[in-house]
Amino acid sequence: MFFDVFRKNRSPLPAPADVGVPAVEVHASQAAYLEMREARREELHARHAVEQSIANLARCAPFQYLCHAHGGPATLRLAEQEGGEVNWRESVVCPTCHLNARMRFCTGLLARWMQAQPGARLYLTEQATHGYALLKRRFGTVHGSEYIHDEARKTAVGQYIRHLTGDSTESLNIEDVTRLSFADASFEVLASFEVLEHVPDYRLALREMARVLGKGGRLLLTAPFLECSRDTVTRARLDPDGSITHLLPPEYHGDPVSDGVLCFHHFGWDLLDALREAGFASAEVIEVWAPAFGLMGIQQAIAARKA
Ligand SMILES: [Zn+2]
Repeated sequence: MFFDVFRKNRSPLPAPADVGVPAVEVHASQAAYLEMREARREELHARHAVEQSIANLARCAPFQYLCHAHGGPATLRLAEQEGGEVNWRESVVCPTCHLNARMRFCTGLLARWMQAQPGARLYLTEQATHGYALLKRRFGTVHGSEYIHDEARKTAVGQYIRHLTGDSTESLNIEDVTRLSFADASFEVLASFEVLEHVPDYRLALREMARVLGKGGRLLLTAPFLECSRDTVTRARLDPDGSITHLLPPEYHGDPVSDGVLCFHHFGWDLLDALREAGFASAEVIEVWAPAFGLMGIQQAIAARKA
């Protein structure tokens, strides 16, 4: 007990309160996932009614949840889309740590992985984000990067990163996920959020991610995922001459460090096969639904692990 107090007092940041963690469900195949959905059809349907009630409540009185990303209570803030629908995945931003629901889910999971392996090195394919800043402050062994070519933008993004992290010595790192600069087995944990769908040759990126992870290394990914589709839908293709062929109407995603990025893929369950082919021993879809943690709607991520 004495040492726990001593350690806490020496920590550069107060340790987050232990608010617990939401239970996650793991799905290793589309068949198992569909079977689960069928068996729990009524329960899953009832979730929608609970979400509507919470949204209605939050419109007239503060609704509190536990943010396990920063470790403390938070008030539910709804950013509603047209028609009054709530985007539970991309909104519900915590007023304290500024992370939306998707990133609170993923950051909380990464923090758990990092705590289970003291000293683990984490590589995030983002640096100019609140998620990176939070993890960097909490665990020193975090490396982040962005993918930017424009020199003027690099300067501005570097300043923004120093503002976010409060570290005046931090500089912007540039990486291409299909050609990472790191030696083999440089990290124990790697996380990439909403990046893979913008990489024309995503299989090459997955091989690079497997390469820079050591034995037993863990990967956490989010990207547009079609839980009803076995196959990945290719929306656009990069041709050998460098031109882009659009196979579906172009879809651009908002990006904190650019004006919008073309989406090349919406992934299906074959992404798990691609991960195994890239060198991961296991690959699963993980899901969470936990109103007490402000995690509702469909919250999914992909987790993979090297042997
Ligand atoms: Zn928070």
